Amino acid sequence: MMAIYRDGMDSSINEARPTPKCRFCASPLKVTFVDLGMSPLCQTHIEPDELNAMERFYPLHAWVCGNCFLVQLEEYVSPDEIFSDYDYFSSYSDSWVEHGRRYTEMVTQRFGLGEKSLVMEIASNDGYLLQHFVAKKIPCLGIEPAANVAKVAIERGVPTTVRFFGCQSATEIAAEFGRPHLLAGANVLAHVPDINDFVGGMKILLAPGGVITIEFPHLLKLMDENQFDTIYHEHFSYLSLYSVEKVFAHHGLRLFDVDQIPTHGGSLRVYGCHADDATHPTLPAVDSLRDEEISRGLTSLETYQGFEARVKDTKRKLLKFLIEARAAGKTVVGYGAPGKGNTLLNYCGIRTDFLDYTVDRSPHKQGRYTPGTHIPILAPERIRETKPDYVLILPWNLKKEITAQHAYIKEWGGRFVVPIPTVTVLDP
Ligand SMILES: [Zn+2]
Repeated sequence: MMAIYRDGMDSSINEARPTPKCRFCASPLKVTFVDLGMSPLCQTHIEPDELNAMERFYPLHAWVCGNCFLVQLEEYVSPDEIFSDYDYFSSYSDSWVEHGRRYTEMVTQRFGLGEKSLVMEIASNDGYLLQHFVAKKIPCLGIEPAANVAKVAIERGVPTTVRFFGCQSATEIAAEFGRPHLLAGANVLAHVPDINDFVGGMKILLAPGGVITIEFPHLLKLMDENQFDTIYHEHFSYLSLYSVEKVFAHHGLRLFDVDQIPTHGGSLRVYGCHADDATHPTLPAVDSLRDEEISRGLTSLETYQGFEARVKDTKRKLLKFLIEARAAGKTVVGYGAPGKGNTLLNYCGIRTDFLDYTVDRSPHKQGRYTPGTHIPILAPERIRETKPDYVLILPWNLKKEITAQHAYIKEWGGRFVVPIPTVTVLDP
């Protein structure tokens, strides 16, 4: 059988290479979704004294499983290496903290949570979400693998246990802390290499009658809006309702509702319960979104195979913009140093030849350099000092927040630019 690896190349070139297997159903992965070449880990920002050292690059090659249609990367890097000292602090994004506050209001009302309930969040980061439950005196526990991030949560009064989540830790947590009525996780399901161990752990931990909510970027949006830069090593899976429902069902869990939410460029929030829990009947939203995904082709390999050509076109258009801007003597800087920015910069080959610097609100990133491309990361104040002509917003999902906070760039005729879905100069 001819497998398609990349355009113009016969699969026989890769014959010596062992065939990767689907992380959910273990079928051999033969069909490429998109191959973004070699890239360093996106959260390993480089210290000044590391600039001359070697960096490790890993393939950034996404596959689609021909059996269950789970889009995924191979596991090139162990989660220990990625997550034990993570540079991402959720609370540096105002809109993400606000998202957490609104979520807390909604679930507290909908599921009648109170002082006798127990709420847990998997990958609770710096407590950006659970702080709202603490404020309502609803008992809670964060489960977070990165000790440096968990420390910040504990300091702000959010009880947090430092560990990776899976079947074994779920059993330990249930024995030590009890079983939660609400088990939440935002942007974590896509980040786990062993999705079966993770979802199996949720099944073990959830109290009878309890509710799971899981948020993840929606694969349909990724494809519709060309969000290829959300593919990075930390994201092992790219999820649809169809694929998540299959994984949950395999572990005795049922999805009973789904919300489409705007975070991260378009996400789903699915609501799960024990499969036999009659108190949570499946609502029509689940059937209608599953039908939409199927009608849009998410159960057909051809749909996935069309993606890579659009990614290449986006790269060429972005480079054309940058080349023309620099040739015309314009200055261009970046805003943000998010994971997705590093995929974009490395895949497109954008270094200080195009961006003089980038800025980030997180003091943990300031003074460091972007991995692979070595663009200096400075404090946002630098934009006002240097008055660049263009500011390229790398976390384009936060463009409203960023353009509002830095509207002053129009004082000198500066313009914001977003790279995705296609390079666009925003109106001042
Ligand atoms: Zn599969």
